[in-house]
Amino acid sequence: MSVEQPKKSVTLIGLGPMGQAMAGAYLDAGYRVTLWNRTAGRADDLVARGAVLAPDAAAAVAANDLVVLSLTDYDAVYAVLDAAGAELAGKVVVNLSSDTPDRAREAARRLAGLGAVHLTGGVQVPPSGIGRPESSTFYSGPVEAFRTHRAALEVLTGADYRGDDPGLAQLYYQIQMDLFWTSMVGYLHATAVAEANGIPADAFLPYASSTAASIPGFLAFYAPRITAGNHAGDVDRLTMGLASVEHVLHTVEASGVDAGALRQLAGTFRRGVEAGHGGSSVSSLVKLFKGE
Ligand code: NDP
Repeated sequence: MSVEQPKKSVTLIGLGPMGQAMAGAYLDAGYRVTLWNRTAGRADDLVARGAVLAPDAAAAVAANDLVVLSLTDYDAVYAVLDAAGAELAGKVVVNLSSDTPDRAREAARRLAGLGAVHLTGGVQVPPSGIGRPESSTFYSGPVEAFRTHRAALEVLTGADYRGDDPGLAQLYYQIQMDLFWTSMVGYLHATAVAEANGIPADAFLPYASSTAASIPGFLAFYAPRITAGNHAGDVDRLTMGLASVEHVLHTVEASGVDAGALRQLAGTFRRGVEAGHGGSSVSSLVKLFKGE
């Protein structure tokens, strides 16, 4: 004779593309799912699949110990938290909405004042990556809460716990986004120069991919040196970097393509040389960026 286990349950608030994917993953995993969304109609398909739509945010929060938020930003988070009020006491709120590390810290303080625990999350994949263990989300906040709910969080993606500080998950997320956006803009800008010179994006693709594939080797070379504060220059001296960036800049200008970002980059290299780092590695830009 088998004893039926109580059904696992979760509340999910926010049904944009991300929240919809998350609610779907919980339903697929057999969870009892309570939903709330400002625009109720966005819950229709999920309700048809067995989710329960709460009449308001307070009722949604009251329904379960674990409350997952997937909202546009922390302004939206506060609108929901304010509406939930006293129902938040004793809850673990896993906030998967993006914003700055400081806003995550502020939300954690505010929830602590209401007797609730805030776990910050930074989801690193688009909605199509939800429900896949190979995807990853950064988490930070009280480790006991993370341990207690880890299995439920892993229904969504793999879970990468970064530490106690509630700002850490957003910090890791935002530095990843810094890298992503500057890299993508670099690709798009180079493609604009290619196209302005009659080279279609398709023809550029194998060369762009080869350059992108070389980047991890540079990261592996520089990370331990930067950690050790070793900026000794070799073939990567800042003066040589400046000469190279200026050649790129002149090519961009001659192509009639917006050269603003390249001009700024050349200016950064020049500042480094003028500050006496000309013979140092390009990695010394890290110090320059930090104002050292
Ligand atoms: P959306 O902005 O599309 O949707 C977010 C939800 O926020 C909607 O349900 C919306 O409600 C709700 N909302 C916005 N403002 C308010 C408010 N003032 N009061 C109540 N509810 C509000 O975001 P996504 O679903 O795309 O993403 C959710 C979070 O995940 C964001 O923080 C995003 O940065 C992050 N993220 C998204 C990724 C993606 O690829 N989409 C990737 C990684 C992270 P309504 O339906 O009524 O408009």
